[in-house]
Amino acid sequence: MNFRSPIKHCRNCGASVVYRVPDDGDTKERAVCPACDTIHYENPLNVVGTVPYFGERVLLCKRNIEPRWGKWTLPAGFMELGESTAEGAARETQEEAGAQFEMEGLFTVLSVPRVGQVHLFYRARLLSDVFDPGFETIEARLFTESEIPWEEIAFRTVRETLEHFFADRARGHFGVHSFDIT
Ligand SMILES: [Zn+2]
Repeated sequence: MNFRSPIKHCRNCGASVVYRVPDDGDTKERAVCPACDTIHYENPLNVVGTVPYFGERVLLCKRNIEPRWGKWTLPAGFMELGESTAEGAARETQEEAGAQFEMEGLFTVLSVPRVGQVHLFYRARLLSDVFDPGFETIEARLFTESEIPWEEIAFRTVRETLEHFFADRARGHFGVHSFDIT
């Protein structure tokens, strides 16, 4: 199953690659270069984000980008090389919401094998209820649990993270939740 566009050219020498099982005991098809024998491994990507909260309310961003334009999401995006998961989550929160916040603990770890991704959300305590969202966000605003537009949430990982957040808050204790989206 391919989650991304197939690799066409060798990253090392530029020759056309072929997809086949390498001869080294591997069991999966890889993009193999017949010219220089480079094997191109493709692995899941990390999506990192936060659950920013201000008192009883949680910050959601209305997406100004595809996919799911106009739907609400927690601030999150692809981790960049050279940053930690928490640094990436903080950067996305800054970029998408322009929020002032303090990072707290890891909250959810979600495997999404269907799209080859792992999503990690941290709790983040907002220091202000004034936001300055970037171009990826139409609007950033706070919602109480009863105000959350559950039918308008962009992604299942976000919906399940929000459900866990309000359940833990009601219990008075935040755990770390790891589960699979299948
Ligand atoms: Zn090559």
